[in-house]
Parts: sequence; structure tokens; C-alpha cells
Amino acid sequence: MASADRVKVLLPMPVGSGYDYRIPAGMAVSPGDFVRVPLGPRSMTGVVWGKADGAVPDDRLKSIVARHDAPPLSAAHRRFVDWIAAYTVTAPGSVLRMVMPVPEALDPPAPSTGYRLADSVPPAPGTGPRITPQRRRVIDALAGEEPVAAGRLRAQADVSAAVLAGMAKAGLIEAAPVAVGADWPAPQPARPGIRLSADQRAAVRALGPAVGGGYAAFLLDGVTGSGKTEVYFEAIAEALRQSRQSIVLLPEIALTAQWLARFEQRFGTAPAPWHSDLTRAQRRRIWRAAATGAARVVVGARSALMLPMPALGLIVVDEEHDQSFKQEDGVIYHARDMAVVRATLEKAAVVLASATPALESVANVERGRYTRLVLPERHGGAPLPAAELLDLRQEGPPRGRWLADRLVHAMAETLAAGEQALLYLNRRGYAPLTLCRGCGLRLECPQCAAWLVEHRLAGRLECHHCGHTRPLPRQCPECSAEDSFVPCGPGVERLAEEVAGLLPDARVLVATSDTVRGPAAAAALVRDVRDGAVDLLIGTQILAKGHHFPKLTLVGVVDADLGLAGGDLRAAERTWQMLNQVAGRAGRAARPGRVILQSWRPDHPVLQAITAGDRDGFIAAEKAARERYGMPPYGRLAAIVVSGRQAGAVRQAAAARGRGAPAQDGLQVLGPTPAPLALLRGHFRHRLLVKAARSVNLQDYIRRWLSRTPQPGGIRIKVDIDPYSFS
Ligand code: ADP
Ligand code: ZN
Repeated sequence: MASADRVKVLLPMPVGSGYDYRIPAGMAVSPGDFVRVPLGPRSMTGVVWGKADGAVPDDRLKSIVARHDAPPLSAAHRRFVDWIAAYTVTAPGSVLRMVMPVPEALDPPAPSTGYRLADSVPPAPGTGPRITPQRRRVIDALAGEEPVAAGRLRAQADVSAAVLAGMAKAGLIEAAPVAVGADWPAPQPARPGIRLSADQRAAVRALGPAVGGGYAAFLLDGVTGSGKTEVYFEAIAEALRQSRQSIVLLPEIALTAQWLARFEQRFGTAPAPWHSDLTRAQRRRIWRAAATGAARVVVGARSALMLPMPALGLIVVDEEHDQSFKQEDGVIYHARDMAVVRATLEKAAVVLASATPALESVANVERGRYTRLVLPERHGGAPLPAAELLDLRQEGPPRGRWLADRLVHAMAETLAAGEQALLYLNRRGYAPLTLCRGCGLRLECPQCAAWLVEHRLAGRLECHHCGHTRPLPRQCPECSAEDSFVPCGPGVERLAEEVAGLLPDARVLVATSDTVRGPAAAAALVRDVRDGAVDLLIGTQILAKGHHFPKLTLVGVVDADLGLAGGDLRAAERTWQMLNQVAGRAGRAARPGRVILQSWRPDHPVLQAITAGDRDGFIAAEKAARERYGMPPYGRLAAIVVSGRQAGAVRQAAAARGRGAPAQDGLQVLGPTPAPLALLRGHFRHRLLVKAARSVNLQDYIRRWLSRTPQPGGIRIKVDIDPYSFS
């Protein structure tokens, strides 16, 4: 029975959709409040979600223990949580858990001790305690009304703790509690920005007025180096002028020191960062600063989208086509799509920026849902580099080498001219496959259906799916041959070895997630490249994004076909995006760039479109293909992955699911088939694909279907709406 003294509380757990609790006498709670409630023998913090549903009888009803001193979760944010849960077919509590990842942030930080000037009558000159220059500095620093935290006071007055203690003892200053608020220095919109080009100004004229005017969505579509960042900075400036908050989402690896420095240059102070490298104390502080509204601009990886923001006015998703916005574990969601949802619910503006927009976004422009803003030229008119195809069938390198002579010559010329080159290969390690010369055995991960990758620098083999490592065996476990293992194919480490032989004087730097760990290392790399301490970069996709290296004029793509392999729906689109991004690294300043693509299939339409610079042609062809097969964005897709430790049980469970699929018009269930990674971390995996027309409510169907067939023990089901990973 619903009544006035009970409410529903949603808990950050993967089950249920909230439980009823009694509001104890004397406590006032409102929807959105963070409250502590008993749960079995423990207690847990959740959010008052709304009216009680009355399922729990009065005598079993437990009472709320306490209300946290935190800003309530807004109605819009609560709707956002429910929306994501419904869309991704997960429990609302799982989504809520992403919203409150640092529960200690729900309580205000304990006040720290500080000092203020003592309230005593100033002694007559010459009679009181001695005022040394150090003490004078402390007195000056305390001239304001508010007490100052001890640490800050020491820094400001440049004195030791002993000086402060001495002054307190002498009665000059006295201890006082300091509220450590969730303050964050406010970025200053009024600082002068750079002079924008006419195209940039036109984009800003469309964007600026939209901020604060309710929901509006934009696709900021401009070639690499066209100045998109400067344009959305002006939208942020507008939000700041209106005292509204902004979220900027960047792919994790694009959140560079360079980006932060530019922001600081424009706004005088850094934004609040939100990424996986923060300490717990930092997360606590930043979460609270976001939730209280103190942090005006938060920049981060996809999880920043979940932060509560009471005055959200703008969301920017930079490099919106990037795959890293799709979360593949836990709640499987796409941060770009959810950013648009959040903007709708919060009545905020959303800007998706990219040089190679996702087909989804292009389609949304065509449907009239997004306004497209175009920056057609690179800033300063630097031409986009010409891309040349190098046909490996005709002019491939000699056996055992991976770089063709034409590319090597271009590298030598570039370096001789005092410029820099980049070799791109999206393969970490030394070699992707190691096999026995004697019997042909391929070294595989014992827990995944995947080859082990040799990492020669680290002296071991590694599984790139589960992290399993082992040393290279001396003896083949199959045929017992000694020292019979040979590496097959190149990884970046192997390229470095080849380059060392061909260009012995070049200063080479290998940049992958193995060698560049964390923002500090990334900043050091950027500095080294900018300072000219490096001639040749060899790297994976961590080099493809966001960086601006003025002296880099040559990009060699070692294996342009790599992404085209496999039956992935987005293989062509992704390759197109990646190659464009990489190519965009070349010649970003005054010097023209050159891009060489090594390929075994130079007549592949994707590579043809890139060399011809025919973006529209590529998009048209790709769209036509997707439309023909009813694939996203012209149809809906969901993957159901059935997994477990027993191969037979998984196969049976998947088959039973398949048989239990209700029939529905405009919808097909394909499979089950073993997933391409049929074994992952020791779990066998089978996959069903649901393909539906856009008019079908896919989620309703899946919920109905999954609730019909009981789930056998030991079997897990993962629902992936709009799948991007087809492994
Ligand atoms: P994008 O985000 O489109 O790749 P950026 O905003 O990073 O482009 O701009 C590329 C480079 O051009 C940066 O170094 C940026 O500082 C510079 N730039 C962009 N717009 C201007 C401008 N109006 N005046 C001067 N420099 C600019
Ligand atoms: Zn593995």
C-alpha cells in the first residue's frame, strides 16, 4: 500500500528496480535524495526514486537510516538512468552504479583545520610578541575574513608549520575549521579567444545562440586541423557566460596535455578531468564538484557522461565516431548516443565533432535531427596531404621485410630534410603469431580462442584479450623440437628493428599503450616529438588522434588492409576513419604532407576513396550497402551472447534461446553461432543476432523473449544493443 510515509529507493545493484522504505519520523526526504538504507544485514546508499509501490507489507518495511548531505539527483538525471536501463535492457541499479562510483563523495569532506587572526586586542607596539618577517607574511595572508587551511597558508606565506604553531602559542593566530568546499577554479569565458576564420565564425554563430535555448543537436563536421576545437570552445564560453555546466567527452587517449593546455590558454584555467587515471581522492573531489555545480567544465572519457550536473547546458563529444565511446562491459552503452539522450532530457545543446563522422550521425543529419556545421578547410589553408597507394603485389618489400623501398626512400628524404615521419601499424608487440617450424603448432592462449602475441622487449608472449602471459617456450610442446618457434608477421617492435637496420641514424620512438602509459608519459612523448628529439615515430592508434606535430610530414601506413579483414559490419567505415585520422597527422603546419598506404588490395573501394579524397563517394557507397541489407543505421541490430564454462551447456542454452524466440514481423533472429572469439577468458561463447526494422521496438521484444525461457545455472546472457564489437 502506497502511503505518505514510504518511498521507493533505487540501489546501485544489478537486480530489481527499487525497494520501498519507510521515512522515519522527523526526516524529510525528496525524490533524488541520496539515502542510506538497510539491506539484509548490511546497509547501502541509494537514491529516493519516487513513490513507493507498496509491495512490502507495513510490518516488514524497514526505515531509511540517514540522508546524505549531497545535492539530490535531478529529475532529468533520474529519467536518464531509467532511459539507459530500458534501452540497454539492463537493471536501473546497474546504471545508477555508474552515476555514483565514489560513494564517499556523497558526504561533504571533513573540515580541515586552518587558522585565522586572533581576536585579541593588538598589544601596544614593543610589548607584544615579536613580528618577524615570516610572521608578517602569515598575518598578511590572513587579512581576509575567512580562515585559511594550514597547508595553503604555509605555501602562501612560505613558512614552516613550526612558525604557525609558534604564532598560535603566542596568541597571534588561532585555529579554526575550514570548510573544504568542492570548489574548482572557474574557467573565464571573457578572456580573448583566437581570431576565428570566416567558416569558424559561421559555425559559432549557429552554435552560440543554441546554448541555453533548450535541446539542440549539431554535427560539427570538419577535416582534421580545421579548427573544430576552437569552435566548440566558443560554445563552452557561451555556457560559462550563462553559468551553465559543460561536459566534453574525448576518447581516453585523446585527452592529452595538448588539449588541456589549449583549454587553459583559452579559459585561463584547466577544466575538471574525469578519467581512469585519477586517484580515489581526486575522483571524490571532482564528483562532488560536478554534482554541486562548482565544476563548470568537466572533460573526460565516456564515463564523464554519467556525472550529475545540476546546471548542464552543453555536451561535446569530440571524435564522435570513435569506438572507445562504446562501453563493452557491464552496462553496454554508446556514450555518443547517450549524450544525445541526456541532452534531450536536460534540454541542453549537444555537439558531435569529427572529421569522419559515424554513418549513424550522417543519417541523423539527413533525417533532420542534427544540424550539420561544416568546416571545409584546414586552418591556415594547409592542404590535406595527398595519399598514395603502394601496391604490395607490384613493389612489395623483399621477404622478411615489411617496408617497401618507396616508403623507405620517402622516410630517408623526410628525415634528411629535418622533418619527421610516422609509421602506423595497429599491432602492439613484435609479431602477432608465433609458430613452430617443426610441426606448425601455433601458440594460442589457453583461455581464449586467440593467438599469443610476442612482446620481445618484455621478453614474453601475451594474450591481447585476457592479458595471459608466458615466456616463449624453448621446446615445442607438440613435437618437442628445440628453438623451433618463428615469429610471423609484423608488430611495431619488429618494424623498429627493421628501421634500425635501414636508417641506423634515425632516432626512433615506439609509441603504443605498452610504452606510453598514462597522461604524463603521453605528455612527455608529445614534448619529445615537438622538440625534435625524435625523427621517426612508430605507433598504433594511440598516435592517430588529436595530436598536432608541426614537423611531421610523412605518414606511412604499413598495412592499410588490416582493418578491412573480417566480416565486421563497420570494417570499411572504421578503416576509412582510421586512415583519415592517421593521414591527418601529416603536414598540419606550413609544410605539405605525404601519406603512403601499403596495400595488397589497392583497388578496394575504401582505399580508392581515400586516395581520391572522395569522402562523399565513400559515404554514399557505404550507405547504399547498409540500406540494402537493412543494417544500422537503416535497421536495428542487437547481439545476444550466451556464455559459460561448459562448452556443451553453452551450445544447448544458446540453441534453446534460439528456439524460444517469438516470431515477430519485421524482425529476424539469426544464429546461434559460435562467436568469432568462441572462447574468451575461459568462457565459451555463442551468439544470436537480432535484426529488425527501425519501426520495431527491439528492447520490448528482447525483454519478452528473455523472460520466456528460463536461464540454466552457470550460463550468462549478455545483451548488446547496437553492437560494435563482433568478436
Ligand atoms: P580540429 O579539432 O578540427 O582537428 P584544431 O581545433 O585542433 O582542429 O585546430 C588545428 C590547429 O589550428 C590547432 O593548432 C589550432 O590552434 C589552430 N587553429 C585553429 N583555428 C585557428 C584560428 N582561428 N587561428 C589560429 N589558429 C587556429
Ligand atoms: Zn586470453
